[in-house]
Amino acid sequence: MLGIACSECASIGSYRATSDAFFECLECHHGIIPEDLCLEPSEIWTVNDGGILGSIIDPAESLREMSIAIDEYMEADHDSVGQLQSLRCFRDAVFMLQGALEAGVPYPIVKK
Ligand SMILES: [Zn+2]
Repeated sequence: MLGIACSECASIGSYRATSDAFFECLECHHGIIPEDLCLEPSEIWTVNDGGILGSIIDPAESLREMSIAIDEYMEADHDSVGQLQSLRCFRDAVFMLQGALEAGVPYPIVKK
């Protein structure tokens, strides 16, 4: 999980959940709601065990990147740099998927 930077004091990973479903910066007490976040389309927000707000890559995006990496691997020349790059992309997507699952995001059901 990547911590969200405070829009007021730039402290990273300092937004903690409050009892009224908001998040408040531990450093400057700036408050936000998840709808205030500007995340990339591939990211989703999450809260860790300590109540800290952060973002992770959407597991559906990780699965999409894994599929692309496999296609690129199959299309690359045997024992080429392209194959190594594809494997690296696949590994990175697996780590992102693992992070999402560890954060409690359900494994996505992908319809064919
Ligand atoms: Zn702050």
